[in-house]
Amino acid sequence: MTAGRKLCAVSVDLDSIECYYRIHGLGEPPPGLGDIIMRRALPRFAALFARRGIPATLFVVGRDLELEGGGDAAEAAKAARAQLGALVRAGHELGNHSYSHFYDLARRDRGVIRRELGRAHTLLREVMGGAGPVGFRAPGYDVSVALLDEVAAAGYLYDSSVFPAPLYYSAKAAVMAAMGVMGRWSGAVLGDPRALLAPTDPYRPHPRSPWRRGQSPLLELPIGVTPGLRVPAIGTYLVATPVAVRTRILEAMRARPVFNLECHGIDLCDAEHDGIPGELVAKQHDLRVPLTEKLRAMEATLDRLAPEYEFVTLKGVAQAFQRGALQGAA
Ligand SMILES: [Zn+2]
Repeated sequence: MTAGRKLCAVSVDLDSIECYYRIHGLGEPPPGLGDIIMRRALPRFAALFARRGIPATLFVVGRDLELEGGGDAAEAAKAARAQLGALVRAGHELGNHSYSHFYDLARRDRGVIRRELGRAHTLLREVMGGAGPVGFRAPGYDVSVALLDEVAAAGYLYDSSVFPAPLYYSAKAAVMAAMGVMGRWSGAVLGDPRALLAPTDPYRPHPRSPWRRGQSPLLELPIGVTPGLRVPAIGTYLVATPVAVRTRILEAMRARPVFNLECHGIDLCDAEHDGIPGELVAKQHDLRVPLTEKLRAMEATLDRLAPEYEFVTLKGVAQAFQRGALQGAA
């Protein structure tokens, strides 16, 4: 690792289209779309990373690797395993994003949490070989004492779920309230508000309150927000926001020792290219941005970061933290 350069870790949460149908209260997605993120979006990210020599962290929902049960889902899982296996061999990291992607996982009982972590871990280990993943990201950015206890008990090195972004939180609360008024049920859960005041650079959480500093063996690597206003510096915003806003966000992020740049598979999808139904596009506005534009925004973002940052996986960030090699992080 080059001394003096800031670190940037790009991660991609590979949430399936079904997750978005659930968030927006749309029921089940049409058949044939279940694996569209793995099939269409992941290769686009992989090509982008390969062109630039960026090692990324991919958070995988265990169920998407499940071979039991046969049928189309198992066929899709086989293809996903082959693709992810090749990415691991190319130097990327796979992280645990739970088995079912329950948005309320943090509030479930410990038995459910343990099974969700354990089953996803086993499936990921089958793809990765060795000891399996060392990093976790919670569905919907929501953590709890019980959830992080179980992640720590599973021997993980880090969690990367805390998203200390009040603007994102209030926007989500407003959307969920509007849906409630209209009698529609959202599968999303409004996270614990204590996350809004959490530290914004990597830290060791307190075992009884993971939103503040303590001595937990599990590190927390918060998702990128700007200093001051805590504007989300995540892929979904960066690909769909005007250039001037993106430039300001990236400029502000230079004050951080680490840029934890979180993306979603859907960030490199577009409705037209990928045959995504209008019912979802009406709710998920970033799907209207053409893929060429999103790719251009992503390329421009990485162009801007490349001279100043060293790209590493989140595991690399966690290891740098442990060595005391992160500038400005406590
Ligand atoms: Zn997710």
